[in-house]
Amino acid sequence: MYTTEILSPTSLAEALAIKDQYGSDIYPLAGGTDVLVMVRNKIGVWGGSPPLLNLTTIPEFDFIQEIGSNIEMGPLVTHAQLLESSIIAKYIPALKKAVSIIGSPQIRNLGTIVGNICRASPAADTLATLYARDALVQVQTVNNLELLPIADFITGPGQISIPKNGLVTKIVIPKLEGYKGDYISLRQRYALSIVVVSIAVEALLSKNKSNIEDIRISLGAVAPTIVRTGKTEAFLKYHNFTEDAIYQAEKLIQEECKPISDIRSNKRYRKAMTGVLLGRILRNLT
Ligand SMILES: Cc1cc2nc3c(=O)[nH]c(=O)nc-3n(C[C@H](O)[C@H](O)[C@H](O)COP(=O)(O)OP(=O)(O)OC[C@H]3O[C@@H](n4cnc5c(N)ncnc54)[C@H](O)[C@@H]3O)c2cc1C
Repeated sequence: MYTTEILSPTSLAEALAIKDQYGSDIYPLAGGTDVLVMVRNKIGVWGGSPPLLNLTTIPEFDFIQEIGSNIEMGPLVTHAQLLESSIIAKYIPALKKAVSIIGSPQIRNLGTIVGNICRASPAADTLATLYARDALVQVQTVNNLELLPIADFITGPGQISIPKNGLVTKIVIPKLEGYKGDYISLRQRYALSIVVVSIAVEALLSKNKSNIEDIRISLGAVAPTIVRTGKTEAFLKYHNFTEDAIYQAEKLIQEECKPISDIRSNKRYRKAMTGVLLGRILRNLT
């Protein structure tokens, strides 16, 4: 049984004041689908039964809204809410697809996108799309507020850049109107399994579809964090969008990523699949 203090603030101001008082001696709890597994198994710091800062009692953390050219969402937005949101369906279909395969209905009902980001797993399903869109993470303390690019916020597997008295209070995702996006993940089976390789693409085609005006490509589970593939992006932007260009881009992305072998897959397979998945998405763009 977990016998520790659980503090349940009812406002952002109260939550920040508690975090300021306890610093790194208290751990935020959102859906708990990662935290409670670690608590139960006494993994790392969780073995010492640290106090928890329950964020689920803060109503102002529960929002998805359009603000100008961005979509903003709070720390209590669950994967299930993203799946049902008409805003997400309209502007970020790749994210909708990504959350549709997270865990199981129970995990999607509890797990939040902010929890998924803060867990900072290279295999996390929401991250590839957030990297492809250059999403921003708002980190707040009692006397400071900062918007960090997601690639700067996540510094390594399970590691994030946040002050000890800080909380993530918002995610900002550009709408990228006119872009077409997709997300594909390979895993051993669809329910309750971990990603072997994933890819997110956001592309803006010219009117006659003969050129790619802008493209953002990110890969999951092939490096310690999600990675953008700058060389492949640049190649596709500067070549006509033909079958030959797709073929060359498939080869280039395979060279550009440097995956490792682990219990879920080996590096040769991961490398090969980055090309296969990119080709599949590109051929579907027109
Ligand atoms: C059976 C099972 C299946 C799963 N399947 C998948 C899957 O298919 N794909 C996938 O990507 N993930 C999967 N997960 C992992 C998990 O469900 C997700 O990462 C989920 O999004 C975590 O969100 P949460 O709200 O439950 O986070 P929590 O467990 O509450 O928190 C996760 C981490 O984020 C921190 N945190 C939370 N909110 C904040 C905040 N506002 N500020 C600062 N830090 C914060 C917590 O302190 C903790 O370190 C699975 C987990 C389980 C148990």
